[in-house]
Amino acid sequence: MKRFILFLSFFFSGILPAQAQLKVVTTLSTFADLAKQVGGGPVEVSYIASPKFDPHFIEPKPSDVLKVKRADLFIHAGLDLELWRYPLVDAAGKSELRPGGSRELDLSRGIGLLQVPTQALTRASGDVHLYGNPHYWLNPENAKIMARSIAEKLSQIDPDHEADYQKNLQEFVDRLDQKISEWRKIAESVQNTEVVAYHNSWPYLAQFLGIRVEQFLEPKPGIPPTPKQIGFLENYIQKRGIQGIIQETFYPKSASEPLAKRAGAQVVPLCQNVGELPQAIDYISMIGYNVDQLLTVLR
Ligand SMILES: [Zn+2]
Repeated sequence: MKRFILFLSFFFSGILPAQAQLKVVTTLSTFADLAKQVGGGPVEVSYIASPKFDPHFIEPKPSDVLKVKRADLFIHAGLDLELWRYPLVDAAGKSELRPGGSRELDLSRGIGLLQVPTQALTRASGDVHLYGNPHYWLNPENAKIMARSIAEKLSQIDPDHEADYQKNLQEFVDRLDQKISEWRKIAESVQNTEVVAYHNSWPYLAQFLGIRVEQFLEPKPGIPPTPKQIGFLENYIQKRGIQGIIQETFYPKSASEPLAKRAGAQVVPLCQNVGELPQAIDYISMIGYNVDQLLTVLR
């Protein structure tokens, strides 16, 4: 009998709450981390795009479709960051996860976007930033807006845990605010310093730190470096005494390393998403890593 009661208590304590978990699926690992911070215990979070690959060009697998099909909430970047999310959500066949549906969350809502084109562009040239720069999560001020959107959405879907979501949100924002003032302080010494980047993914981090990123190895976002662009940059970097070429770990170094060598600069690997390098275990450590890397080279 005692054993049976033990079994029953195990059954009810272990299995039932697990079944009751809210399933959140995000496109990027960074959004998954924010959802985990805000969601806490009652939320089971997974993501589609490995942080080891360019998030613009992911090919979802059949298992990803299944994941999305089972999701109670689908979180994504909006804009044209993940164009692959449309066929993925279509294949999952749940209308509430589609744009404007009750179970989708576009994190770009509420963000002050940078580089929004003043005239209509076409994708004919291969450009993947047609609605403004979509890499907005790299400014930690924006992470607060994103975390708030997540808390609001989770509370709508699961009002029983609203107080928990609000408490988790506040704790995350407090921790982030503390780091933000530390980062701002150490960035004072590099105000207005310029770096060159591989892909145009850093304007929001640059905005936060007060540095400048104006030229890129990619002649257009999504188009690999050309000899003409590399030639232009060699001259540009030398003339301006630029110290750093920043790039995500998943882009090849076959163009940037020789360029850096010839022009007297250094390639600085930065993380665009949580988990891209072992040092970036969560949102705060990812931004911390990027700030440290940049400042080491620029100072
Ligand atoms: Zn991009």
